[in-house]
Amino acid sequence: MFGTIYKSGCPRKQISLTVKYNRLPSKANLYYNRLPSKANLSNRGIVIPAANCALCGGPEESEVHLFLECTWVKEVWALIETWCELDLSMITNIEQLLGVAHSLLQSSTHKKVIHAVILSAIWSIWKARNEITFNNKTTSPSVVAEEIKHNSFFWVKNRGKMPQLRWDSWSIFPFTVN
Ligand SMILES: [Zn+2]
Repeated sequence: MFGTIYKSGCPRKQISLTVKYNRLPSKANLYYNRLPSKANLSNRGIVIPAANCALCGGPEESEVHLFLECTWVKEVWALIETWCELDLSMITNIEQLLGVAHSLLQSSTHKKVIHAVILSAIWSIWKARNEITFNNKTTSPSVVAEEIKHNSFFWVKNRGKMPQLRWDSWSIFPFTVN
């Protein structure tokens, strides 16, 4: 699904410059600190104009900052937490974030939904970061939160084999089917 969305929206001219930055950050890349964030590029000796976070203008962009600590990203997570009635305040690193679904005591369906929401959120946050970094285009946290709702809906409905899901109930609260 992610590959299709990416391919459909990318101008041919920019592919060579941005293709590696537009992939969904894989679990392996996040675990091993290999995501090409500004902090990691600086550590590898690659010179970049500014290492500040493109989304909030704050501290050096690292994975933990970009996906958890950034004030802009916190607004996205707050909207997702309200939507899912989920508390992510104890999450302090990417590994915990990726494993949050498995730490829940709810049903396997509930876990599947949360996992899809978390992965969709990581993809949308990374996409928003690339939009402002490479295209100077800002995205609001509420727009990103809506994108996360849409992407996770289609993912769970189609890939998660839950054709009975309905958007009108999902968009209000994603656990109407258990
Ligand atoms: Zn930031």
